[in-house]
Amino acid sequence: MTSRDETPHPETTLEHYPWIIVRFRCTRCRRYGDARLARLAEKFGAAETIAKLVERFHASCPHRPAKRNGRLAHRPDPCGGYCPDLGTNIPPDLPPSISGLTLIEGGKDEQLAEKPARNDRRRVVGG
Ligand SMILES: [Zn+2]
Repeated sequence: MTSRDETPHPETTLEHYPWIIVRFRCTRCRRYGDARLARLAEKFGAAETIAKLVERFHASCPHRPAKRNGRLAHRPDPCGGYCPDLGTNIPPDLPPSISGLTLIEGGKDEQLAEKPARNDRRRVVGG
């Protein structure tokens, strides 16, 4: 193993993972997770590989057969979880504060209220 090649790959262990954040994404659901390397190492051991962590991510994926209109919708691939930072040396862009493993299911419907239409009509009282 050459130590110069620091590009992370599925068999990279936490000990050799170059970034302080390990990101997980799913191509089939909107769930994702960002975990601090140190916390993962503490929890699973420094010899844990990214591939194993992605497996764990799959195991907890909510993307399983669900009922739609009364019919069971079968999905050939239960989860499209992966680590987007493998095979690249581009550092993940980090949100300012990340604590622990954050799993977000679904997504927040952010509904921005439109500006209320100006009501310039005057009410004619009497006449
Ligand atoms: Zn998923």
